[in-house]
Amino acid sequence: MLASYAVHPEQSRGRRYAETPHPYRDIFQRDRDRVIHSRAFRRLEDKTQVFTRRDSDHFRNRLTHTIEVSQASRTVAAALRLNVDLTECLALVHDIGHAPFGHAGEGALDECMRAYGENYDHNLHALRIVEDLEQRYAAFRGLNLTFEVREGIIKHSRDYSPVLFPQLREYLLDLRPPLEAQLIDLTDEIAYNTADLDDGIESEVLCLDDLESGLDLFGSLFRKAAAMHASAPRKLIFNEAIRELYNLFASDLIENTSQRLLDLGIENQDQVRQASSRIAAFSPEVDRHRAAIKTYLTEHLYNSSDLVADRAESERVVRDLFTFWVQHPDRLPRNYQARLEDWPPHRVVCDYIAGMTDSFVLNQHRALCGGSALLHA
Ligand code: MG
Repeated sequence: MLASYAVHPEQSRGRRYAETPHPYRDIFQRDRDRVIHSRAFRRLEDKTQVFTRRDSDHFRNRLTHTIEVSQASRTVAAALRLNVDLTECLALVHDIGHAPFGHAGEGALDECMRAYGENYDHNLHALRIVEDLEQRYAAFRGLNLTFEVREGIIKHSRDYSPVLFPQLREYLLDLRPPLEAQLIDLTDEIAYNTADLDDGIESEVLCLDDLESGLDLFGSLFRKAAAMHASAPRKLIFNEAIRELYNLFASDLIENTSQRLLDLGIENQDQVRQASSRIAAFSPEVDRHRAAIKTYLTEHLYNSSDLVADRAESERVVRDLFTFWVQHPDRLPRNYQARLEDWPPHRVVCDYIAGMTDSFVLNQHRALCGGSALLHA
């Protein structure tokens, strides 16, 4: 039942190391399972999405966010008759390269690496994880994922210039990624925009009255839900409005992408790859609402005083540890010391810190750099 423009498993460009086909699972189903069984995937459970576990255990962490993205992605992919297994695999792996402490950790690591003329980029780090850092198999390093999954890891959220990133040349940087990969950035945004409104209200950093007056689309959905459930508690009316918002974004993504495929006369994967821009997209009207929510969240949640103080302290913790291990590489664990034969210390330290959970970072910081008065594991 796959559409002609979907990625068909038998058309895959395959793995780096040939493997015997599995009797019950195709290559993308196997890749999805390899991601789930990886150490980096399990560690998402204790990595910050927006709020940390110190705030409350109700909020999303990077693992539950990932599961939400996977669920939305599967629905959208199935409705468009795309390859659901490949889409699910790309959703499950999409945040695997994220550092501890969310964007604070990412920013701090990037700043540390820039002092050495390099950088930290979570998509490139995800590729390092699945190609090299994960060690599970006797026959090869990494997870030996298919080309399409590795390409999706690199290309799902941005375009990399072939001139600036010659090391990524094999991933067809001048061509668009398949639709399965194009979806992920959009379903990611559906998931985190609605979840961050939800966690923002739950944490009381956001205020429901301000949300209703500040965001047109949310305001109208909230009033509609209130009219339908006049005696329900406000929090449950809010939940109904968030559900509708989620549904509206996912439906619009399905319908608008479907229409674009028709308008552009797309009939096969080559046409998807050759198209002048990405085909998966929200309609212009819904995209304006998406952008408005994102701006609202940036101003009122991500940059709120409640989150900013925590973020500055998280950055300091990462910087302290980075400096410590670059100066004392002999204090790295033995498997990372072994990597010093192939990589400079700053790269080894960056890989090590990027893989850590929030609590492990804080424990290490307490043991080696005196700890943080503000953050507790
Ligand atoms: Mg994400």
